[in-house]
Amino acid sequence: MAKVKKKVKVIKIDTDKCNGCRSCEVICSAFHATDKYSITNPSRARIRLIREPLQDVYLPVYAGEYTPAECMGRDKYIVDGKEYEECAFCRASCPSRDVFKEPDSGLPLKCDMCEDDPEQEEPLCVKWCLSDALTYEEREEEVEEEVLLDEMETGLKSLVDKYGLNNLIDSIARMSQKD
Ligand code: SF4
Ligand code: SF4
Repeated sequence: MAKVKKKVKVIKIDTDKCNGCRSCEVICSAFHATDKYSITNPSRARIRLIREPLQDVYLPVYAGEYTPAECMGRDKYIVDGKEYEECAFCRASCPSRDVFKEPDSGLPLKCDMCEDDPEQEEPLCVKWCLSDALTYEEREEEVEEEVLLDEMETGLKSLVDKYGLNNLIDSIARMSQKD
């Protein structure tokens, strides 16, 4: 299997610097609105803030993978004396909670690092985080070509689970006719 270069994008989260302003949620939902920037709705954001002001807990969490089944149990974290709610650190769009689901369709949301054409210089939530709680880094890694194909198949599988294979094939056929 051939080796290919993969760009790895990393957003570092410094929770001590986060002040809970939620600008990251606002810009993310606006950027992903149809039409772009036409509306803001944080429940559509691919980043969500876990807030417990009385405990000084401000935890930005990015939307990760869709998962069709919830966990068998729950995790409780206590870090530096602060107790985080169950599922607080989890990035999955899963059946047991509403976060990281598009509120109208229920489709899973996933951070795309602000995929755009031309590419964003840095993700918009990073740009809008004036407290520097979010910082951006890029690096290159060599991976097997098969690994990249696996990633694509995981994304397609979530759509197949939601809409069925035939509907997905019909949609792709319609999209290709428009190009
Ligand atoms: S924009 Fe920055 S400071 Fe504001 S909530 Fe998001 S991560 Fe926290
Ligand atoms: S990187 Fe872009 S898509 Fe991901 S959460 Fe931030 S603004 Fe949203």
